[in-house]
Amino acid sequence: MPTVDNPAGKTLAELGAASPDEVAQLFSEVRALFDNQAAKQLDPATWEALKQVWTGRKSGVLTLITDNWLKPATPELKRAVGQELNKLKAQVESTLEARKRDVESLAEHAASAKDRADLSLPGVLRPVGTHHLIRQVFQEIEDIFFSIGFSVVEGPEIETPYYNFEALNIPEFHPVRDDMDTFYLELPKGAPGPLLLRTHTSPVQIRTMEKRQPPVRVIVPGKVYRRDNPDATHSFMFHQIEGLAVDSDITFCDFTGTIDYFVKQFFGESVKTRFRPSYFPFTEPSVEFDVSCVFCGGSGTAKSGGTCGKCKGSRWIELFGAGMVDPAVYGFVNYDPKKVSGFAFGIGIDRLAMLKYGIDDIQAFFQNDVRFLRQFP
Ligand SMILES: [Zn+2]
Repeated sequence: MPTVDNPAGKTLAELGAASPDEVAQLFSEVRALFDNQAAKQLDPATWEALKQVWTGRKSGVLTLITDNWLKPATPELKRAVGQELNKLKAQVESTLEARKRDVESLAEHAASAKDRADLSLPGVLRPVGTHHLIRQVFQEIEDIFFSIGFSVVEGPEIETPYYNFEALNIPEFHPVRDDMDTFYLELPKGAPGPLLLRTHTSPVQIRTMEKRQPPVRVIVPGKVYRRDNPDATHSFMFHQIEGLAVDSDITFCDFTGTIDYFVKQFFGESVKTRFRPSYFPFTEPSVEFDVSCVFCGGSGTAKSGGTCGKCKGSRWIELFGAGMVDPAVYGFVNYDPKKVSGFAFGIGIDRLAMLKYGIDDIQAFFQNDVRFLRQFP
């Protein structure tokens, strides 16, 4: 019985095959060898190697069989060898072709596995952010003023001293400028200046009145900047909403009624408001608005029995400044102070948010600690 170790390398005579049956037996052993190798797990590289071993032109098994078995075969065996060789060739080629498709689709599958989605799996929950508390309070305040006929205007954060001070009746060397310690911009030589970061949203009053004739009813939300050292109640950047109403017949009564309406809408119907005389260069008369302490209900006494720490027993909390627009300001915008009157106010958003939501450190708004932010979804 001829054995098949590397049969293709030897001649039929060396293998001891002398009859068509023995030739057929040899070929069946070669086929088994091929089937065994082709059945293994293949990747593109091992498939290519298998193809070379069997069909390589110089020393592939098919070539060796042609050279060693077919060519020197005796006339009696030639026909049998030729038939068997053709069968083997067809089998090798078709099997290699079939395995090639397997290998390719396997590689494709591996490459696309990452992109393929299993629609039966639970979805990926992506965290959805919310508006920052400051933005929420802006929205709350804007909604209240929208409901009584105000609209929103915005203005630049980089201002000229004219809009930030002079046109608001704050001439140079006015002591109020000391209270608003100002960031000035460093400008290239020869550039027109000076320029500064606005210290309040009030410049937009002037910019609005320059563009519009009365009636004007606007609020101006935005960021303002002062050279304050950061602590629990100060920040070098904070937020304001400026308000301005100018018309032919606006009275002090309209003014206090509007503010009272706003404060009650914001803090709740149960709060009281009061105003005290104050001073601002661009309003006359000027007032400070107070709200009855929202922490002790205006009693001055904490729930635990002692003095309320928030209002220090005074029963009132200072809210913001306001007043009737100083007639001198109308002179800067070509309004006739004899025909128009109006009021203006400047609400500190951070302060109001702290009061309403019981936050005792303004820095919490700017530290972006999600444990804080998540409390205000
Ligand atoms: Zn209190």
